[in-house]
Amino acid sequence: MASRLNKSKSKVFFRMKTSQVDSNSKLQLNICHLYPDLMDTYGDRGNIIAVVKRCQWRGIDVTVSNISVGDSLSTSHFDFDFFFFGGGQDIQQEIVGKDLQKKAKDLKRAVEQESVILSICGGYQLLQNYFKTLDGKMIKGIGIFDAHTIGSTTRMIQNLLIKINPTIQSEISEAYTSLRGAEQRSNLKTEIKDSFASLRMTGEETILIGFENHSGKTFLGSNLKPLGKVIKGSGNNGEDGTEGAVYKNAFGCYLHGSLLPKNPHFADYLISKALERRYGEIKLEPLDDSIEWQAHKQAINRPQSQ
Ligand code: GLN
Repeated sequence: MASRLNKSKSKVFFRMKTSQVDSNSKLQLNICHLYPDLMDTYGDRGNIIAVVKRCQWRGIDVTVSNISVGDSLSTSHFDFDFFFFGGGQDIQQEIVGKDLQKKAKDLKRAVEQESVILSICGGYQLLQNYFKTLDGKMIKGIGIFDAHTIGSTTRMIQNLLIKINPTIQSEISEAYTSLRGAEQRSNLKTEIKDSFASLRMTGEETILIGFENHSGKTFLGSNLKPLGKVIKGSGNNGEDGTEGAVYKNAFGCYLHGSLLPKNPHFADYLISKALERRYGEIKLEPLDDSIEWQAHKQAINRPQSQ
């Protein structure tokens, strides 16, 4: 409880991108939750809660807008910094896939303008070129990721552990203050310093842990970067050892469960990316993530069901 209260007192350090912005103005993050009524399986909504809380603990204002079938992105009141698109079953994906075509232009523009998208499983599949279901239905995607998914007879269901792609890993290390000497800062509480120091020793920050449950097998185009390499589990297809995809600030993966509450380094990385688009270089204040890292380790140690 004490650590939660401490979090609420934290602040954020940032350097503004443009001189027009008053240096005392509050940071704001606008989140768009895509199809929350149709695409929200295995705790995906927890990712939104994690982003909102981690921002609020640092005094950053957050808005969350739910955008679903029939809603327009271009007439939305907000310029979204962060999109979240969760998982769903094939039946929901058919409905959402059709509607998504109408949002394709706006979403692609947002990606080119460096907005962050975190997409998981069914959402990830719909941001690819297409998803062909096991019974042969072709669900057109919007091609943000040069990849496709084919339904298979194998259900890939287990905890999924990945080693983050080294190019992204170095950016995560930059964003997550643990790796920038947080334990040396004299104004931080001892327990925060300790949790950062132990993290540095174990290398946990190079890992993501989540829970996968999909039968679609995803294959990446030759120029598309994977999010990471599978250590335990199936990942994209159970064959080539890749998991997820990254294009600019768009991330796709099979990591449900919820992903961000138990991977605070990745949560802060995405928050930094989303804020930097608007404000320039951001240095988030460290939070006491000892409970989050306990959850991370607990999930890694759970037996794998194959
Ligand atoms: N229908 C997709 C599959 O099984 C997505 C499932 C999900 O989002 N959990 O591959």
